[in-house]
Amino acid sequence: MQLTGKVALVTGSTSGIGLGIAQQLAQQGATVILNGFGDVEQAKALIAATGAEGDYHAADMSDPQQIATMIAWIEEKYGALDILVNNAGIQYTAPVEQFPVERWDAIIAINLSSVFHTSRAALPGMQARGWGRIINIASVHGLVASKEKSAYVAAKHGVVGLTKVIALENAQSPITCNAICPGWVLTPLVQQQIDKRIAAGEDPEAARLALLSEKQPAQAFVTPEQLGALVLFLCSEGGAQVRGAAWNMDGGWLAQ
Ligand code: NAD
Repeated sequence: MQLTGKVALVTGSTSGIGLGIAQQLAQQGATVILNGFGDVEQAKALIAATGAEGDYHAADMSDPQQIATMIAWIEEKYGALDILVNNAGIQYTAPVEQFPVERWDAIIAINLSSVFHTSRAALPGMQARGWGRIINIASVHGLVASKEKSAYVAAKHGVVGLTKVIALENAQSPITCNAICPGWVLTPLVQQQIDKRIAAGEDPEAARLALLSEKQPAQAFVTPEQLGALVLFLCSEGGAQVRGAAWNMDGGWLAQ
């Protein structure tokens, strides 16, 4: 039980990657605060099944005030926030000239600005207590681009840059900040892109394979469990000098 006594917040953890990471942190004994708009009761039950303490806060990650309130609530109720996993994210695809302005604003707010707001609120407590881990779930799209994903690619590149700044500002302390850059993971966010292909006439299995074979040489999805294992490593003493990394776990996507 590597993380007994630690308090972790995983934003956007009611489904997909965030929920997988939350479960692994809980399995290592951390108290885990869930957040997000999915099935809260189911997510809480999965944390309870590990035997760890779990809680939930409904902060909207597009709202800086709600983010500040959530971090203050965690520190007040649990005495600390030791591990911050910035995972909440949304996607929208369209060419730049057709990209709705309100979708651009929402993606920048949720996928990028929220990482600044959570970190800004959590760092003083980590610095006062002398330990912390900030782990940002970026994407391969933090390092390379794909067409029709202007807001997402811009936000994720921003997350990788912000990660490096936070890592440098805390480099002489036991507080690290790193980004994880997944390739395709089969979650509701990606299913929505497969569904778009199915709606355009592709057969469901062909749509899944086409999505994978365009980018991911493994032709298999990365799993939330595999990403959770990397989060645990970054939280461990073995990860203590990994600082400012953008660590891809992508089935070979970036090796091409
Ligand atoms: P998902 O849709 O399953 O989960 C997203 C989570 O964010 C959900 O819990 C949702 O309720 C929450 N969320 C959305 N808007 C929110 C808001 N305003 N406030 C609070 N919570 C909000 O998606 P996922 O695939 O698990 O994505 C998780 C992260 O991983 C995202 O940042 C995404 O960009 C990144 N990512 C995903 C993939 C992939 O292939 N699925 C690849 C690379 C990176």
